[in-house]
Amino acid sequence: MKAVLLEKPSPVEEKPLKVVETSEPTPKEGEVLIEVKCCGVCRTDLHIVEGELPLQKLPLILGHQIVGVVRELGEGVDYALKGLRVGVPWLYWSCGKCKFCLEGFENLCQNALFTGYSVDGGYAEMMVAKAEYVHAIPSSYSDLEAAPLFCGGAIGYRALRLTGLLEKKGRLGIFGFGSSAHMILPVAMRKGLEVYVFTESESKVKQALEAGAVWAGPTRSDPPAKLDAAIVFAPAGWVAIEALKKLERGGRLVLAGVYMTPIEKLSYELLWHEREVKSTANVTRRDVGEFLSEAERAGVKPIVKTFKLDEVNEALLELKLRPPAGSIVLTVS
Ligand SMILES: [Zn+2]
Ligand SMILES: [Zn+2]
Repeated sequence: MKAVLLEKPSPVEEKPLKVVETSEPTPKEGEVLIEVKCCGVCRTDLHIVEGELPLQKLPLILGHQIVGVVRELGEGVDYALKGLRVGVPWLYWSCGKCKFCLEGFENLCQNALFTGYSVDGGYAEMMVAKAEYVHAIPSSYSDLEAAPLFCGGAIGYRALRLTGLLEKKGRLGIFGFGSSAHMILPVAMRKGLEVYVFTESESKVKQALEAGAVWAGPTRSDPPAKLDAAIVFAPAGWVAIEALKKLERGGRLVLAGVYMTPIEKLSYELLWHEREVKSTANVTRRDVGEFLSEAERAGVKPIVKTFKLDEVNEALLELKLRPPAGSIVLTVS
């Protein structure tokens, strides 16, 4: 089968990913063999390729927003899965035994495996996944539209849940209007939240207003009202400071990135009046499952730009230098 290998992290300008012919993996007990249809390209992949995240496995097949069809079943897997169209997210496996797993925080599991990071992922024609960690995909989504739901969408939804606003409503600030934010905005609106979008791009300001944001403007500008919670999608520490400045007393700031530049000059004044800062780490199966149904109900339609598997270095370079309004997806088969 054809697969894309990372052998040594380096800047994407140096084309570190190689397309190779390699043998097909075999599903073991509790696993399924998936024929990959397409796989989303995530900012996390960029951080892995460029060595900004500590690597757990080399060589590595990246990719954790996978849409494919189950072709073979390992021992003990429910026969109903055969031939089913499924998605594979970032959480590949959790132990089910540590204190985090037992308390419903499998995203924090200390023994967890992550797709396309600690195990091989979906930048390949075939891949193996744990049967209990794949998700059926709502039929209203095409393969290409479904791929971004599995990371940008799901982690955005977890961040939205962590704001606490789904239970009590209010004003939500979204900082950075990339693919995650695009998918979360309709869900937040359907839940009755007033959404304020902060972005440096004039075209994205326009898009945000068209998508239903009550206000949109540059990151350093003042919105017409204080925010009850905010989500920062931009991987930049200074944006977190800007978001804190706009929070209402008792407000919560949720950082959605797996990576962020240092948050410098954080004065206590910005945290005073019981403001909180919380990061978002990984996703649980509940996050993915809930988001898939919420997305369908809210009519979330990911905007997708496609590249072929062979063009993976170009796809990552585009994400680094000219991130498109929606998500980048590699077509595989
Ligand atoms: Zn991702
Ligand atoms: Zn665990």
